[in-house]
Amino acid sequence: MEKILKVENLHVTFSTYGGTVKAVRGVNFHLNEGETLAIVGESGCGKSVTSNAIMRLIPNPPGKITNGSILFKGQDLAKYSEKKMRSIRGVDISMIFQDPMTALNPTLTIGTQLMEGLRQHKHVSGEEAKDKAIEMMDLVGISNPEERLKQYPHQFSGGMRQRIVIAIALICEPDLLIADEPTTALDVTIQAQILELFEKIQNTTGVSIILITHDLGVVAKIADRIAVMYAGKIIETGTKREIFYEPQHPYTKGLLKSVPRLDLKEARLTPIDGTPPDLFSPPVGCPFTARCPFAMEVCDKVYPANTELTGSHQVNCWLQDERAKQLLEAAIK
Ligand code: SF4
Ligand code: MG
Repeated sequence: MEKILKVENLHVTFSTYGGTVKAVRGVNFHLNEGETLAIVGESGCGKSVTSNAIMRLIPNPPGKITNGSILFKGQDLAKYSEKKMRSIRGVDISMIFQDPMTALNPTLTIGTQLMEGLRQHKHVSGEEAKDKAIEMMDLVGISNPEERLKQYPHQFSGGMRQRIVIAIALICEPDLLIADEPTTALDVTIQAQILELFEKIQNTTGVSIILITHDLGVVAKIADRIAVMYAGKIIETGTKREIFYEPQHPYTKGLLKSVPRLDLKEARLTPIDGTPPDLFSPPVGCPFTARCPFAMEVCDKVYPANTELTGSHQVNCWLQDERAKQLLEAAIK
């Protein structure tokens, strides 16, 4: 499988009056062509900062990519000028955000907004742009597209608006789509429809998807692989099956326990005790130490190395690292 995206050792900081927040601290992951990778974690774990960094949408100042590379089809986006990024955003890489209303301009028709990107980047005629807009409305499941292109955002329901946002994101046929909590603002039945739409779009267009979410229900539906983030780091990566059925990091296990299970008679939510560490001065060791029921002496001293459990399953936890654990115990003695 070809890797369309490879993020290596990504670091992002934000300067504030209170100090520097180390929001993303050495993140590594890749995305294979045509797959959906879900990046999951609690709010503030750095997942949205990571996706904004890929789009180079970190406001500088106060934000800054201080280290790392973002290889998109082999080219390092971290080194691109803003001008070059503008020719990529919405064309090669598109992004969808949580709230469809803020993504749409209330004063312009849906048709104008759909065709804007095409006309700007693809130099197509008015007629071609309109045909493509109708095709996209069709793809995202909006009937009567020709008529509806003349309407304004407020004439559509929330779910329909999110479909339009998706159509706008896809109209230039990007290779990578980043969706940041794309269903969070929608009610449950609409959520399910939008998730089905993502699957249909991927099957139709082959687009590779990064899905940012805190919702493991969403992940269970459409992810192929999952990266779990905690305190600015990816602490476990695996296929959906590996993460849901063989999670190894205590944080991943905790996250899964805090999801309501419909198959259990007595559905019980067990939230993880405690809060994530302060990212002004993050711990040098495992950031989960203070909340981890298995924490050992070594855990808050040294950050656990990346242990490869299978070709697809990796975890950063001392419990998984026998060799390193022995070495360290010897060193401490
Ligand atoms: Fe828990 Fe230690 Fe593993 Fe961190 S490294 S998750 S503290 S056992
Ligand atoms: Mg898929």
